[in-house]
Amino acid sequence: MRKGVCPKCHSREVYGGTKASPKSGWNNSNTIPLSGLRAAALDNYVCGSCGYVESYIAKEKDLAAIRKRWELVF
Ligand SMILES: [Zn+2]
Repeated sequence: MRKGVCPKCHSREVYGGTKASPKSGWNNSNTIPLSGLRAAALDNYVCGSCGYVESYIAKEKDLAAIRKRWELVF
């Protein structure tokens, strides 16, 4: 989706919320938990044709924390 094509319906009508502000909301909405009170905000992409949503960790430092703390899936 970050390249502007929906992986589900192949539409090129993809909207990116990378510049949305604030990035996270009430009760850590639009985040995933990291550790303690820390949460990683997400960048979202939405297909304007079928409504499919795809999310990415917004900050590289949060992605690095996940690499350190989360289990690798095989
Ligand atoms: Zn789509």
